[in-house]
Amino acid sequence: MINVTQPFLPPIEAYEKYLKEIWDRKWLTNNGPLVQELEEKLKSYLGVKHLLYLNNGTIALQIAIKTLPQNCEIITTPFSYVATSNSILWEGSKPVFADIKNTDFTIDPEKIAALITENTSAILATHVYGNPCDVAAIENIAKAHHLRVIYDGAHAFGAELNGKPLLSFGDISTCSFHATKLFHTVEGGAIITNDDDLAKEMTLYRQFGHVGDDHFSIGINGKGSEFHAAMGLCLLPMMGEFINKRKVISELYDQLLGDLPIQKPVAIMGTRHNYSYQPIIVDSEERLITIQTLLSRNNINARRYFYPSLNNLPQYKGELCPIAESVSTRALALPMYYALEKKDVITICNLIKSCF
Ligand SMILES: *Cc1c(COP(=O)(O)O)cnc(C)c1O
Repeated sequence: MINVTQPFLPPIEAYEKYLKEIWDRKWLTNNGPLVQELEEKLKSYLGVKHLLYLNNGTIALQIAIKTLPQNCEIITTPFSYVATSNSILWEGSKPVFADIKNTDFTIDPEKIAALITENTSAILATHVYGNPCDVAAIENIAKAHHLRVIYDGAHAFGAELNGKPLLSFGDISTCSFHATKLFHTVEGGAIITNDDDLAKEMTLYRQFGHVGDDHFSIGINGKGSEFHAAMGLCLLPMMGEFINKRKVISELYDQLLGDLPIQKPVAIMGTRHNYSYQPIIVDSEERLITIQTLLSRNNINARRYFYPSLNNLPQYKGELCPIAESVSTRALALPMYYALEKKDVITICNLIKSCF
């Protein structure tokens, strides 16, 4: 079976070295030394002031949104994973969907501007497949209307824009380190900010709102464990190798599928890709289903990602987002992972070609 992704596991000896430390210390969670070490290393990797390691990327979104006033409107993208808009609803605000650009499938800044009301508190945008949102335009709109900018950077780890890590943009960026992501800690996530006050507030939310016996605010349990941080410490030094390996696979796909009438995201100028996903956008949903079914019959799992367009989910009384609705019926993520072999990419591409 060739899956759409396959988690990378480090040599077991590397992980065992950390397990031995954990066994010696008997400090398993609550901001332990491995969590602190991972946070320090991630901060220097991303060149940011504050990074809170968390137990998953959805809690990261919820804690980031918790810093905003409640009962507001948050302008967001319909083309993301459902955790993005659900987190807004979960935190007591209303997602207002702005349609996406047909080039890189990130939120369209022009559509954002048209949806701002007195009740808008923030923009929550996703760097789709690791391709950057138009961060400059979004920042301009946010400044003009005094809005907070939060990026769902679950796909953005390792990607850069104009030489800067993509996760360093916005008032807050969140990330997921789930096992299926490019860099993972089995389960895990992070909140990234350069703002001291926001960092302080979110640190309290992560640990029930209290430090020792002093209670400062409401909170939740967003803490990551030593076992999870250990996985991150094993994998972080391999990031360069992960990206290089995926680049080779991605270029092979592009070369083999180059003659077909399929659309690929075109990232904005200055992007350095992380090759986290290998999406193709075909000409119709019918074609997508034909391809997915044929691959599946050959034990290859390609996944519709993102589907459906979030504005169409029953929990939202969605605005119309014709571009996202169209792209989401035609976007297919092909297998992409470190251990994917060249011969398998060739097989996958030959099967896809036979569907045209
Ligand atoms: C994976 C993902 C999330 C959720 O992260 P978890 O760590 O699984 O909670 C949120 N947003 C996007 C865009 C994702 O891809």
